[in-house]
Amino acid sequence: MKTNILIVEDELLIAKNLARKLKKLGYNVNGIVSSGQAAIAKFTETQPDLILMDIAIKGDMDGIETATQIRDIDDVPIIYLTAYADDETLERAAQTGSYGYLLKPFKEKELHATIKIALSKHKEQEKIQKSFVEYSNTDWMYYDNLTNLPNQLLLRELFEQQQQKYADTILPVMCLNLDRFGRINEFLGSLNGDLILQIIAQRLTNCVGGNGAIARLNNDEFAIIFNPVSSENAIVNYARHILQELRRPFFLEEREIFITASLGIASYPHQGQEIDRLLFNANKAMKYAKKQGKNQYQIYSQDFELPTSGDLSVEADLYYALEREEFQIYYQPQINLKTGQIIAAEALLRWYNPKRGIVGPNQFIPIIEDNGLINPIGTWVLQQACRQVNAWHRQGLQPIRISVNLSANQLKQQNLYEIISQSLSDSKLDPQYLELELTEQILIDDVNANIERLNKIKELGIKLALDDFGTGYSSFKYLTKFPFDILKIDRCFVQDIDRNPTNDAITKAFIEMAHLLGLRTIAEGIETEAELAVLRKHQCDEIQGYLFSPPLPAIEFEKLLATSKTGIINAVA
Ligand code: C2E
Ligand code: CA
Ligand code: CA
Repeated sequence: MKTNILIVEDELLIAKNLARKLKKLGYNVNGIVSSGQAAIAKFTETQPDLILMDIAIKGDMDGIETATQIRDIDDVPIIYLTAYADDETLERAAQTGSYGYLLKPFKEKELHATIKIALSKHKEQEKIQKSFVEYSNTDWMYYDNLTNLPNQLLLRELFEQQQQKYADTILPVMCLNLDRFGRINEFLGSLNGDLILQIIAQRLTNCVGGNGAIARLNNDEFAIIFNPVSSENAIVNYARHILQELRRPFFLEEREIFITASLGIASYPHQGQEIDRLLFNANKAMKYAKKQGKNQYQIYSQDFELPTSGDLSVEADLYYALEREEFQIYYQPQINLKTGQIIAAEALLRWYNPKRGIVGPNQFIPIIEDNGLINPIGTWVLQQACRQVNAWHRQGLQPIRISVNLSANQLKQQNLYEIISQSLSDSKLDPQYLELELTEQILIDDVNANIERLNKIKELGIKLALDDFGTGYSSFKYLTKFPFDILKIDRCFVQDIDRNPTNDAITKAFIEMAHLLGLRTIAEGIETEAELAVLRKHQCDEIQGYLFSPPLPAIEFEKLLATSKTGIINAVA
């Protein structure tokens, strides 16, 4: 039986030429249409085996949208035809579960090969779906009853089937773990926690579509096995898309909830031969993503043998680092958007170890948080930073604020008030120039005690900023109980803000709400002029990011400050 093919192409000459080629190759062309609407109608009427879809067709829907709608009706292999291929278009196309692309102009051979591959991919896909059906009598054994997703058992079977069929290809396995889910669960109750998991499961299903299978492993941990990809990197687009989708806020009990996830990826065959090893390595990569600050993906690599707490040599090195003077503070400017001037600096810790070189805080802060070294090291940062800014003030440089990170553990110190007041008096820094950055964690744990602690240290005349806003649990209603002055919008909302309507809307809302509550806003992680323009439009007060400067050693920051009196960016009229 001949394969029936539908051509969707609005340039008649090209379409006819294509039809001729297909016939020559032994296919049957059962229609040529030139718009999305006509394609859907023809598809329903003739049920072709395959569709060749031009991406740039005239009318309301382009080829990708048309394909999405057709695949909602039935799973048919669709090959895209396109004259150019920018990344964004390819990414969109990949997300609709594409079976292949042909870049115009193409040769007969390419056409033939792409069609053959698409048809065989589709056949395998159907078999997998059928095998789901076979399990239906023993459903309860193979499915997670909260989310209706396959469970670990079914995942293993599915993977083995994939592996047998695609022995010579790359099969990616992804581990996904929600960030801070435990806290959210604790805070909102486990019924709401379950609801969130169901929403997440649905979002994942929408993201992955026909490109793989999702399983819930346990609690807030999911795994996804993907259909074969051409290279290990091909999975990156999926990872980005998933992170993006999960980040979209949702409402629960009048609260706006933000959930992010960390993803780890390991691919068969190079990063593991069987499913256990792949899950293990993907999990390792996921943990690495968490240590790097969460809300991101990592592809497994043999190099990341993590220094973790329990790694005694790192702990020992850290233990002596303070007395060996291996720590250094880098300063990153914060800029007032109205005046264009540097008005503050964030103090960011660096560890320079002769053996290990420069180590970033994401690598060692989790370790010193675990073993308690954060307290003495944090005190040192505070003293040092206060001393440094006051020295700059005395040199006659413009008087800037210094912003110091304070972890939730540090906030619990009995003598924190004394530590701060001592730092201020030792350095002779006017308290209005000191600001402490705290993360949202303190809004969840030990809330009343934290409010009290913060009110007490505020009496010293210092400022408080809420760091990484939006990444954990955030509710404005709740926020008002805390004596914050500044809201720091996390980098993940700023990223691509010029091209990402969701981020744009979220950031705009954050800024408006903050202003209503009398808080100033600072956005961090600005990397492009386009991002800056959007933040300016939304009247963000302050900004920080690589676009202006990375964190700098004191001496270089001093130079920057000295040469930028009139402003680092153009002031707004
Ligand atoms: P954070 O407080 O969110 O600090 C901002 C981080 O974003 C810094 O990373 C900074 O270098 C980075 N960054 C700034 N602008 C950009 C940008 O435009 N693009 C990108 N991609 N990144 C940008 P860093 O210095 O590695 O610090 C990581 C985290 O370590 C900090 O995150 C903070 O949570 C923690 N940390 C650093 N120093 C200290 C400290 O002295 N005490 C405590 N408790 N935590 C610290
Ligand atoms: Ca910070
Ligand atoms: Ca931050």
